[in-house]
Amino acid sequence: MRRPLIAGNWKLNGLQSAAVTLAAAIREGVTRDSRTEVLVCPPFTAIGVVSAALKDTGIAVGGQDLHWQDSGAFTGEVSGAMLADLGCRYVIVGHSERRQFFGETDEWVGKKLRAAQAAGLEPIVCVGERLEEREGNVTEAVIGRQLDGALAGLSKEQMSKLTVAYEPVWAIGTGKVATPSQAQEVHAFIRARLGTLSDGATAREVRILYGGSVNPENIRGLMEQTDVNGALVGGASLKADSFLKIVRC
Ligand code: PEP
Repeated sequence: MRRPLIAGNWKLNGLQSAAVTLAAAIREGVTRDSRTEVLVCPPFTAIGVVSAALKDTGIAVGGQDLHWQDSGAFTGEVSGAMLADLGCRYVIVGHSERRQFFGETDEWVGKKLRAAQAAGLEPIVCVGERLEEREGNVTEAVIGRQLDGALAGLSKEQMSKLTVAYEPVWAIGTGKVATPSQAQEVHAFIRARLGTLSDGATAREVRILYGGSVNPENIRGLMEQTDVNGALVGGASLKADSFLKIVRC
């Protein structure tokens, strides 16, 4: 298992100058021997300048989405090769905001993660249930379907290079974090399902991040859980101070 990963998803925030200022502040606070691997995912327009600001620091840069085609008549889209060309090592795929506002399906998520890997990027595949699904006791059914729909047919090698982020939709941007035991329960389910889709040894190599209202106060309890291998952080990643406290958890 690799080092835990702490990833910041900046979403639709930051002109280039603000993004460079934030990246520079994060750079000052992360040491090369950090116990956690650190990743920031700026909006597309700021990826180039953030990559330059973080060059040779060991802090990784990622995209927030990609299209599965390499090139062609797909107005507004960005390919994995384009992200890699800007210095990205990772890309988020299937974030619940993409699913909710842009109609992203499990099938698209599957195509995108394969395209990301083909372009040499590491996809972070997001899954998670909505509040009514949790309340209706169908969390595992929903997440199982999301995983099967996107990951079925991957080779063991492809599977071992994935990162999965469990992001309960009811916890994203709401201040309502999953309890450590709620997170562990779902992470264990995800790992077991990855084992069914490949094998146990492969599933144990996959980092499973928790995302949803992570902050400096709640990160430690989450990270103490056996199957929590890092965090995907939205709001708290937009301030260097709070993001660095999470990185040092
Ligand atoms: C996210 O959008 O991936 C996220 C986890 O957001 P927040 O930390 O703001 O809940």
